[in-house]
Amino acid sequence: MSKRDYYETLGVTKNASADEIKKVYRNLARKFHPDVNPNNKEAEERFKEVNEAYEVLSDTKKREQYDKFGFAGVNPGQYGGAGGFNGNFSFDDIFEGFGFGDVFGDIFGSGRGRQKASRRGRDLRYDLEFTLEDAYYGKEMVISVPRLAACAKCHGTGAEPGSSPKVCPQCNGKGKVLHSQGIFSISTACPMCHGRGQVVEKPCNACKGEGVEKKITQLKVKIPRGAEDGMRLKLSGEGEAAPGGGSSGDLYLVLHEKEHSLFKREGADLIAEVPISFTTAALGGTVQVPTVKDQVKMSVPAATQNGKLFRLKAKGMPSLDGYQNGDIYIRVSIEVPSNLSAKQKTLLEEFEKETTDSNAPQQKSFAEKLKGFFK
Ligand SMILES: [Zn+2]
Ligand SMILES: [Zn+2]
Repeated sequence: MSKRDYYETLGVTKNASADEIKKVYRNLARKFHPDVNPNNKEAEERFKEVNEAYEVLSDTKKREQYDKFGFAGVNPGQYGGAGGFNGNFSFDDIFEGFGFGDVFGDIFGSGRGRQKASRRGRDLRYDLEFTLEDAYYGKEMVISVPRLAACAKCHGTGAEPGSSPKVCPQCNGKGKVLHSQGIFSISTACPMCHGRGQVVEKPCNACKGEGVEKKITQLKVKIPRGAEDGMRLKLSGEGEAAPGGGSSGDLYLVLHEKEHSLFKREGADLIAEVPISFTTAALGGTVQVPTVKDQVKMSVPAATQNGKLFRLKAKGMPSLDGYQNGDIYIRVSIEVPSNLSAKQKTLLEEFEKETTDSNAPQQKSFAEKLKGFFK
């Protein structure tokens, strides 16, 4: 049977870095893993191919040999041995650090190599809304989380009170069994105890031997000062309990900030749009502007133009490290008066008659540009 080039098998170039090869390999190994493709011969073949290619290309020496002499330079079989893969390979390795457990938790939950990982409960996500004020002061909240918790009757053992679980006779408590496939040896969950390593002879009647029950749990959580939209907070061990008494998963709080009626947020800075009258803008004066805590008087100088920003220093949001607050920016927007009375119109017409170029330097310079352009 002619063999595919190892680089081709992984879909990388000959210059691919070790990191790149590792990454591509992990993806392919997950895609073709027999547990994801039960009874799929083609996937199984691909899985073997991919592993063989990786075994060679992940090893600098073997890769060098392969580059020089092709398949003749390497004999992957000799490294595999009867006991399975050699040191540079483990199933744990493929799945670590990719959030794989979250997605395939149920499929792989008990198939993973490590006992600890196999008995962990699922991670949960909880979306929590908060207001700007919550993030300004910090706030404690109570949330209700529906989750699997240890069964109250059997305390998570799954065994009827008075009886106790026994070591699984098929796997001797390891929770996994090895299947040999040629030079490969694949570890899967023990079919008798489903990876738990224990079997229950008299199942608890409240949880039917699962050791867990659905429960709504009230949890106290804290929105930290300076919290921002999209932030994730991890609550270790507050995810779901593991059937069979393993360690619980984690709970991830994902924070969503509600829109505020006065402020737009940019990190620790806040921006508020404040309308002012055109007379205040022209003559100067004071206006009421908001901070998160209260309202304050801000003075506006004469000849303030539309869109001008004023800074209220350190009145913005606290930073997460508690070091310094951001600023508040007040952007003034000049409101042109509407619904004028007859008297107001007369006054404005009077005003217009008195207006000269020096009152309106922007209009003057624009008029000059216009003239220059169309001459
Ligand atoms: Zn129970
Ligand atoms: Zn077993």
